[in-house]
Amino acid sequence: MAGERRWEGPSDLHLHSLRSDGTEPPAAVMQAAHRYALRTAALTDHDTTSGWAEAADAATSLGMTFLPGMELSAKQEWRSVHMLAYLFDPDDAALRAEMDRIRGDRMGRAERIVNKIARDYDLTWDDVVEQTHGDATVGRPHIADALVARGLARDRAAAFAGILNPRQGYYVPHYAPDPLTAVRLIVGAGGVPIIAHPTPSGRDRMMPPDVLHRLIDAGLAGFELDHRENTEGGKKILRALVQERDLIVTGSSDYHGLGKPNLPGENTTADEMVQRIIDLGTGTSPVYP
Ligand code: AMP
Ligand code: ZN
Ligand code: FE
Ligand code: FE
Repeated sequence: MAGERRWEGPSDLHLHSLRSDGTEPPAAVMQAAHRYALRTAALTDHDTTSGWAEAADAATSLGMTFLPGMELSAKQEWRSVHMLAYLFDPDDAALRAEMDRIRGDRMGRAERIVNKIARDYDLTWDDVVEQTHGDATVGRPHIADALVARGLARDRAAAFAGILNPRQGYYVPHYAPDPLTAVRLIVGAGGVPIIAHPTPSGRDRMMPPDVLHRLIDAGLAGFELDHRENTEGGKKILRALVQERDLIVTGSSDYHGLGKPNLPGENTTADEMVQRIIDLGTGTSPVYP
């Protein structure tokens, strides 16, 4: 009903399940969010919406509001850019085609990485398949899990610091659209695009201001500023841009179950910002308890 608010905070808008590279089923992710006292949570698996139904059921049965989301892979020059998308139509043909293309290419790419590693280490593609549930979006985290299972790394973090570090020479990139295409596809599907961890350190560091302005012109709605991987210097620059262009700011955990130390609710999104996302999104609705 218009004017009547049907949800409440605290809200965490970035969590992963084993439909991509989290380690728990969607329902367990919502249970974790509930244990950490969240009242609204999004599921944002990489390049897939396959966990939405299970997460929505679990969240609402716990009295929480579920916000359908995704983290769409994009690439600007050499930078890997993660575009969070909320409340888009999961059946939009153009967006679906792009998701399928990314997911398909990720599969072949993961196999190419494994083949390179297999020249030097005792690792097979079957090891990785064993770490991947159903038709989950495959990523380096699954290769990391296979390396751990083989005793070649202590945990995911060690695998990423070791054999999976691009400097070791086994890295292979995957196809991803440029961020402008990603924003247009999400907006075209009625969704709300927000750049995840927009200012990390290292090679994926913040995109240049002129690129960001073009994305905002195309409908980019905001930035995930409260995220443990953002640098303080970068956040300061983006806060000024947020003021200048009246953008949405979010905060979230990027929970991956046991795959990362990030815990549900370690960052949250202000109620006012959640409401702006809900008001902007037209592709699908939040699922209320
Ligand atoms: P990919 O998209 O296949 O290249 O893999 C990148 C994913 O790996 C990102 O989405 C991160 O969530 C995850 N990742 C990167 N570094 C680490 C790390 N040190 N520990 C656990 N997961 C990581
Ligand atoms: Zn991930
Ligand atoms: Fe990400
Ligand atoms: Fe993420």
